[in-house]
Amino acid sequence: MNSSPQIILLTGTPGVGKTTVAALLHQKGFQILSLNDFIISDGLYFGFDYIRESVIIDEEIVQKKLLNLFSTISGYLIIESHAAEIVPAEFVHHIIILRCAPKILRARLEQFRKYSKAKINENIQAEIMEECLIATQEIFPAEKIIQIDSSSSSPDEIAEKIISIIS
Ligand code: ADP
Repeated sequence: MNSSPQIILLTGTPGVGKTTVAALLHQKGFQILSLNDFIISDGLYFGFDYIRESVIIDEEIVQKKLLNLFSTISGYLIIESHAAEIVPAEFVHHIIILRCAPKILRARLEQFRKYSKAKINENIQAEIMEECLIATQEIFPAEKIIQIDSSSSSPDEIAEKIISIIS
């Protein structure tokens, strides 16, 4: 099937609420891909970085597999990922960056994640330094990038905002 999916990237520091919002959007009928799950389930990584407590992604093969996938689907596909810059840019319609106040993010990571103190601090630092925003700004034009504060909106409100952006 010939197709050209429109990709909505849902990105942000771990803990900002990507998975939660993606699940809500899925309930509302949107196609969702968790890039992390895709990478793990298809073994698209070189190994595990025990210092950074994360997989070392084989970006080239991930991009190849994504292009294969994109050739089989059409319509909107919401890709949820911390590492949005891996996704081939030509398909990306909008980039939604969820942001979170550092204090709230710390509380979420301490409560819900089995991260070490160092990993939690690394993520808080990344949020303060706007690493996701900077990484996306290096690739995508400003008009495609939208930030939503997840500290002041519920997951439902965020999902609705994203739907209104898409439409
Ligand atoms: P991510 O996928 O970005 O790592 P998650 O979706 O796993 O983040 O969310 C981390 C935690 O924060 C979860 O326990 C979730 O219930 C909570 N959470 C997510 N979004 C919100 C929100 N907008 N308001 C309050 N809590 C939230």
